[in-house]
Amino acid sequence: MSWPGGAAYAVSVTVDVDGTFGLPRGGDGSEARLTSRSERSYGVLRGVPRILAILAGARVTGTFYVPGAVAAEHPETVGAIAAGGHEVGHHGHRHRRPDELSDAEQRHELAAGLEALTSVVGKRPTGYRAPEWEMAPYTLDALAGLGFSHDSSLMSDDDVCRVPSGSGSVIELPVHWSLDDAPHFDRGGDPATLSAMWHAELDMARAEGRHVTFTMHPEILGRPHRACILERLVERALGDGAWIAAHREVAAHVGAS
Ligand code: ZN
Repeated sequence: MSWPGGAAYAVSVTVDVDGTFGLPRGGDGSEARLTSRSERSYGVLRGVPRILAILAGARVTGTFYVPGAVAAEHPETVGAIAAGGHEVGHHGHRHRRPDELSDAEQRHELAAGLEALTSVVGKRPTGYRAPEWEMAPYTLDALAGLGFSHDSSLMSDDDVCRVPSGSGSVIELPVHWSLDDAPHFDRGGDPATLSAMWHAELDMARAEGRHVTFTMHPEILGRPHRACILERLVERALGDGAWIAAHREVAAHVGAS
């Protein structure tokens, strides 16, 4: 794969803005958990602006996967993401895991999320990421028919690839838990350790000339002492010749190649 501008490799920064819907079962039954809910709100109200400032400072754009219900609840935050030139992707409606839903419920999550995100952003999302990265056959098969060009939920490859979706296909931008902040910072974790892992992955992506996706959450990486590792990741990638682009740009490039 060759990358725009003769770049040596390609990098995407992705941010999952789950809000209170990221609590178990889409937050249902968590009404009394005020502390847990406040941590989630911190992510939307404090973490997202901090991450946006880092990306703006480096003049790069990322992809923010947002549940429709979060967009409806926080239209200013999601509007600011879109106004910054970033991609807003579909991350379910109430952040329910597709594998725990019936086909009819999965259809509802997709449709309700599309409606809410399109209403807030003013543009229909073309990228999808399954909540908790638990894609189910019905949802994957429905994506192409609903106009999605790309997905970022599967772990079957390192590089961008194409996967079947119903009678069509979508571009897959693979992910892995090891490149996600959530498992690393589960009640602790040293930012320097995750930073070293991210930089080691940059080394390998560059050596292999491929694309790599990094994933973070604003209530986790948006904390001040952690956010600086995103700044260093982006600086390092730009310094050694990466093309840093949102998933929609990478999918369009790969789809046209
Ligand atoms: Zn999520």
